[in-house]
Amino acid sequence: MKIPFFDYPAIYNENRQKFIDIFDDVCGRGAFILQKDLKEFEESIGKFLGVKHAYGVADGTNALILGLRAVGIGEEDEVIVCSHTYVASAASVYYVGAKPVAADIGNDNLLDPDDIERHITKNTKAVMVTQLNGRTCNMDRIIAVAKKHGLKVVEDSAQALGSKFKGKCAGTFGEFGTISFYPAKTLGCFGDGGLVMTNDDNIGKKLYITRDHGRDYDGKMVAWGTNSRLDNLQAAFLNFKLISYKEDIKRRREIAMLYNNALSDIDDLKLPPAPSDGNHFDIYQNYELYAGRRDELRQYLSENGIGTIIQWGGKPLHHIESLEIKSDLPKTDAFFKGCFMLPMHTTLTDEQVGYICDKIRSFYSG
Ligand SMILES: *Cc1c(COP(=O)(O)O)cnc(C)c1O
Repeated sequence: MKIPFFDYPAIYNENRQKFIDIFDDVCGRGAFILQKDLKEFEESIGKFLGVKHAYGVADGTNALILGLRAVGIGEEDEVIVCSHTYVASAASVYYVGAKPVAADIGNDNLLDPDDIERHITKNTKAVMVTQLNGRTCNMDRIIAVAKKHGLKVVEDSAQALGSKFKGKCAGTFGEFGTISFYPAKTLGCFGDGGLVMTNDDNIGKKLYITRDHGRDYDGKMVAWGTNSRLDNLQAAFLNFKLISYKEDIKRRREIAMLYNNALSDIDDLKLPPAPSDGNHFDIYQNYELYAGRRDELRQYLSENGIGTIIQWGGKPLHHIESLEIKSDLPKTDAFFKGCFMLPMHTTLTDEQVGYICDKIRSFYSG
């Protein structure tokens, strides 16, 4: 059996004819930029998330940059980020002229609320949480620390569309939140795409204006802006995919349960939490686990046709030399000695998941 880590052609071939029809419909109408499909999508996804303002933008990175600008982060400011995140979290801080400062992970492998205070200086303005792998941080604790020090909370929720903490969606806790529609994300489009959201009317207006050259609701230029719009064609594909999105999450949670049940007695592994553990609702963008014998195990799985990857090429932010974000983060360092990810996507069959689990078990029994 051959099981790639992610199957890119499958996301198209699953509904090929439907996508061709959508392409033909949208292009036939000449509806390319800021048209009704985008408006529809923004309304539906805003409702799904329970957020007041949701705007389609060029990609998840631009969503972060627009968000940071809208809340007034800029030169001289520092923003605390989790070191276990994609470079885009920190890059967005850098691109608005501020300085990203890396903090450690907690036992849940997400930003540790207890490690925030250590990194606060007189310039710290905000904490950017990453709702990583489809899991939302314990936002009660993050917000409490931020409040105590007068810091803004902003969310890189690129990987967490529909993930919840205490029934509330990732991206709706902070001043703004973001989503990425990169093809391998839980709701992927056929290229780049993103969303920025907020419950604050003032921030919402700024986001609306800046993503389209400073144009207000009536088309009048009222401020400096940029071009960071989600293509109407991508929005049309996403409208279709959003219909079955809840089913997709259900399937991801099922796969996570299959992995958890089959692998929980292997001492060398540390598995991610169960789908509804505690106050969390996990959507499993990724199934990231820890193995003491990671490199041998990955080699064995690869020989058996199973693709796995180590997130961020194995380097948390504070070890990417060119970024010069140095920090002493023992828990992140320890985790990166053994972390990796098993295949996790909706086109995986139970049989394939069973095969992966069997191979892992035979590695440890051999
Ligand atoms: C994917 C991702 C982004 C960036 O999204 P793009 O749409 O690729 O720009 C940012 N942060 C995290 C955690 C991501 O996984």
